[in-house]
Amino acid sequence: MKPFDYFSPKTLNEACSLLRNSGEGARILAGGTDVLVELRKPSAHLPKSIIDISRIAALKGITESGDSIIIGALTTHDEVHRSELIAKYAPLLRSAVSMIGSPQIRNRGTIGGNIMNAAACADTVPPLMTLNARLKLNSSLGEREIALTDFFVKPYVTIAHPDEILSEIHFHKLSLALRSSFVKLGRRNALSIARLSVAVVLKVGGKGIIEEARIVPGAAFPIWQRVREAEVVLVGQKLSRDIFVEAGKKVSEIMISYTGRRWSTEYKEPVIAVLVRRALEQCIDKEKKA
Ligand SMILES: Cc1cc2nc3c(=O)[nH]c(=O)nc-3n(C[C@H](O)[C@H](O)[C@H](O)COP(=O)(O)OP(=O)(O)OC[C@H]3O[C@@H](n4cnc5c(N)ncnc54)[C@H](O)[C@@H]3O)c2cc1C
Repeated sequence: MKPFDYFSPKTLNEACSLLRNSGEGARILAGGTDVLVELRKPSAHLPKSIIDISRIAALKGITESGDSIIIGALTTHDEVHRSELIAKYAPLLRSAVSMIGSPQIRNRGTIGGNIMNAAACADTVPPLMTLNARLKLNSSLGEREIALTDFFVKPYVTIAHPDEILSEIHFHKLSLALRSSFVKLGRRNALSIARLSVAVVLKVGGKGIIEEARIVPGAAFPIWQRVREAEVVLVGQKLSRDIFVEAGKKVSEIMISYTGRRWSTEYKEPVIAVLVRRALEQCIDKEKKA
């Protein structure tokens, strides 16, 4: 590996100044579980400098503020998993992080790194999108906020400027009247990168009528999105396996309308439909147990 400059700022301001002064040749390092793998590839585009933000304490931890939950970008997947606030107000995010990589990866990998890396299989993105999460980005010029739904351009590309640091992710607490779930299908049971996943939020009113539905598949569309065509299939309907099957088929149909038919369609077409049905069923199973 070629030599590079290494910086380890202790504050966000310091990191922003370093990033501005280093220009486009700089690379941010958080937990390093994506960056270090990438830099070891023979074809890697090596940075002139690495700005290791992992010592910036202000970017770590999970807090509540009124109706909102705020997660610092450097919070690890393990910390998200152990958080009582997340267990109570965003249980589907807790499920998602529990399935990431291995204990070692969850101890080092951060939620901010997962979002900024923008791999199609990033497990935190579908749940955060169903939670209508917003991101705070900081640079030496100031800060701005952006909805997660507007953040991604295509896999591995976001609208963040090269001099911006993701500082926090925030969303409204999921009302206890809403049910949610996350299901993921990988290539194997352990250390599995998502082949397909689905995050679902469901509100069921009296007499079992679905009042609200949010569905975000992972690794299915060119970029993550809510599948509103499938959500409307559910809203106003009585809970039933048939309606869940119908919503699953609609997600599958919409996915193909975006991606076209390709080598993986034969597999993804039935599987995404089943995952959507399972995710919806899980919401209801949890409701029965509650
Ligand atoms: C063996 C293995 C298994 C894995 N399994 C999974 C899995 O199951 N599911 C999954 O979703 N991912 C998985 N990953 C990918 C990875 O662990 C996650 O994406 C992790 O969350 C990345 O976080 P990090 O802190 O390590 O990011 P880093 O590697 O430090 O950074 C990732 C990217 O984001 C940028 N970045 C990081 N933080 C910021 C910030 N605050 N502001 C601006 N830019 C930033 C970096 O410059 C880099 O481009 C796996 C990785 C490995 C090696």
